[in-house]
Amino acid sequence: MLKPRLVVSSCLLGEKVRYDGKDARNELALRLEPFCEVIKVCPEVAIGLGVPRGKIVLYREEGEYRAFQPQSQRELTQELRSFAKDFLESLPPVDGFLLKSKSPSCGVTRTKTYRDREGKEYRGFGRGIFASEVMESFSYIPVEDELRLRKPERRLRFLTSLFLLAGARAIGKDRFHRRVSEFLITFAPRLEKRMRASGSIEDYRKLLFRALRKLPTGSLGMIAKEFVPSELF
Ligand code: SF4
Repeated sequence: MLKPRLVVSSCLLGEKVRYDGKDARNELALRLEPFCEVIKVCPEVAIGLGVPRGKIVLYREEGEYRAFQPQSQRELTQELRSFAKDFLESLPPVDGFLLKSKSPSCGVTRTKTYRDREGKEYRGFGRGIFASEVMESFSYIPVEDELRLRKPERRLRFLTSLFLLAGARAIGKDRFHRRVSEFLITFAPRLEKRMRASGSIEDYRKLLFRALRKLPTGSLGMIAKEFVPSELF
């Protein structure tokens, strides 16, 4: 089987690129590394911010999230957005993203947001600038952060989707479909039918991701046993 192509926040893999000069080593990211073709990314370092660096504040203005670095008084929204768009467009076909929670760039969830750019008036939780661009462009593959994946069921769904999407890329939709159709017919019969009729591998993968969301945990566990390395559970 082809290794899944997984985009990972660099700090989760032990790179000391965080604002405080530290890493955010994550057990699942490190365990996944040998089983995946990993593409590391640190958006803040990529736009030229040093390590260590002043904290970035995510704030909301005129209906959109923006990023500002109070220490340098730099507005970073546009640079982060442009980097994200260029980076995402340059990617080969990928099977998933594992990003760092709480970050003003990578946070899929639990990123603190503020009403002002100096970060004095707390507003609530939001999503980082890079993560927002990822979610907008990749609604058909799993995008998670390490915090959300602490939940066993979510982790199972993430791993199963990741390895099945890679499997479909590896062996082509017809061969792959013969291996998974029996799991899908019961819980996602309409999607299963559309998958059989789909014209391209990308259309097939989009339908596969939707169909997997409909599977109950027990069936997912069975399908995972076939496709996901047991070392990851
Ligand atoms: S969370 Fe993202 S931007 Fe922050 S250090 Fe990690 S990879 Fe870099």
